[in-house]
Amino acid sequence: MSEKYQVLIIGAGPAGYVAAIRCAQLGMKTACIEKWVDNKGAVKLGGTCLNVGCIPSKALLDSSHKFVEAKHDFDIHGISVDEVKMDVAKMLARKEKIVTQLTGGIGGLFKANGVTSIVGKGKLLANKQVEVTNEAGEQTIYHADHIIIAAGSVPVAIPPAPLVDDVVVDSTGALEFTAVPKRLGVIGAGVIGLELGSVWARLGAKVTVLEALDEFLPAVDMTIAKETKKVFKKQGLDIRLGTRVTATSVTGEGDAREVTVEYSDASGTKSETFDKLIVCVGRRPLSESLLAPDCGVTLDERGFVFVNEQCETDARDVYAVGDIVRGPMLAHKGSEEGVMVAERIAGKKTQINYDNIPGVIYTHPEIAWIGKNEQELKAAGHDYKVGTFPFSASGRAMAANETTGMVKMIADATTDRILGCHIIGPSAADLVQQVVIAIEFGASSEDLALTVFSHPTLSETVHEAALAVAGHAIHIPNKPPRKK
Ligand code: FAD
Ligand code: AMP
Repeated sequence: MSEKYQVLIIGAGPAGYVAAIRCAQLGMKTACIEKWVDNKGAVKLGGTCLNVGCIPSKALLDSSHKFVEAKHDFDIHGISVDEVKMDVAKMLARKEKIVTQLTGGIGGLFKANGVTSIVGKGKLLANKQVEVTNEAGEQTIYHADHIIIAAGSVPVAIPPAPLVDDVVVDSTGALEFTAVPKRLGVIGAGVIGLELGSVWARLGAKVTVLEALDEFLPAVDMTIAKETKKVFKKQGLDIRLGTRVTATSVTGEGDAREVTVEYSDASGTKSETFDKLIVCVGRRPLSESLLAPDCGVTLDERGFVFVNEQCETDARDVYAVGDIVRGPMLAHKGSEEGVMVAERIAGKKTQINYDNIPGVIYTHPEIAWIGKNEQELKAAGHDYKVGTFPFSASGRAMAANETTGMVKMIADATTDRILGCHIIGPSAADLVQQVVIAIEFGASSEDLALTVFSHPTLSETVHEAALAVAGHAIHIPNKPPRKK
């Protein structure tokens, strides 16, 4: 029997590593188990987010955006650039360097906070024991007073499109293309498919997105989704809705390999050939072979670890956080759950506001939202008021040549409390965060309208949208207040 810990965490992604650091800060003897190792056997901390998710995708999005700016957008500022070229190998090396720096940084934070890092695959047994199997197949049993499961998620695989080397890939493979594919297919018009499709489209790929649903971005406010579709179309993304992929086949040899995709849409069965295909049809919880049958933790019908609002599982003193439990699969949601659980173990009464978790699509322009959207409020019969403000009326957006998009603010028709904010536009992710804070403090649209915003900033669009809720926007002609 090995050492006993106060808290043992399975998984060192943003949910698990943040929980570990917070537990250690609170004075608890903490260890975090992680199975992900590099080709030298060294542990890779940070999970999907740091290794193959949020960070590498944003590195590629930023590189490819700079390429587009240099190629097409500098001219309007009077800057001429003779020949703009993209060195894909250098772009990938930069991404890898950022990943290595950040994952190594988590190791440093573990040391600084006194978190023990255990390398191996953890399995939860009964009586708060965890069996860890290392790369050599050796097993050790650890004991703890409290256990936090943070094993995360993996890409969903679909039978019609099995992965084939570097030709048919998932999101991880799409971060590794060594050259820009001429013809790129993407299955799934979700957040990840749109972000990765955008990266390669900006670098010159002809990108076709095949989406089974008839509706584009159904979870996004309908006005913003409509505007987003228009913007993506202008950028050259060929988004085909109501298009279900039914089969794929890879043919050819070496660099000449290609993939033919069969799909059905309203007009029948068709096929199309691509050089590369990204399968981005969602993620699933990684809960298999993680739990011994008698450990007491139960799964829901979709394989998520079953938890309550406080992330407690059905087994006493065993918690689960992040992508492996219900709710949006977002790094910040998992990290906040990690903090909540650490603090609750330490006796605090911390609780997350699950109604106030922002969502972002990091394309250009960005799409970001918080709270309820118009279609949800309509469906619920909730009376609301809307104020919108376009970036085309913002002096700062004009100065930056970033005038596409709008801010849409929604407030309760009676109390004026802010119910949601939906943005497509420059720095939308950062702008929406201001409204997240406002909502957290129970603000009304009038509170935001009475707040002083620096001039000239993109943030003024949030201010003007709040003013527009009451029909008082200054820099656009006001329509009569729109109430539902
Ligand atoms: P994970 O990050 O998946 O970490 C789980 C860890 O547990 C892994 O390291 C895994 O190896 C380890 N593990 C699993 N089983 C065991 C076991 N039995 N024993 C030991 N270790 C185990 N989210 C955002 O919020 N913003 C974004 O911009 C964003 N972009 C994304 C882009 C892409 C391409 C992808 C794929 C995802 C993106 N996400 C983004 C989602 C985000 O990455 C996840 O929500 C987040 O990583 C989930 O955190 P987690 O800690 O729950 O799980
Ligand atoms: P998300 O879950 O946000 O990552 O989005 C994944 C998307 O993939 C969803 O919108 C699904 O409708 C879509 N999808 C799943 N299977 C298929 C398929 N066989 N063909 C086309 N789209 C699909």
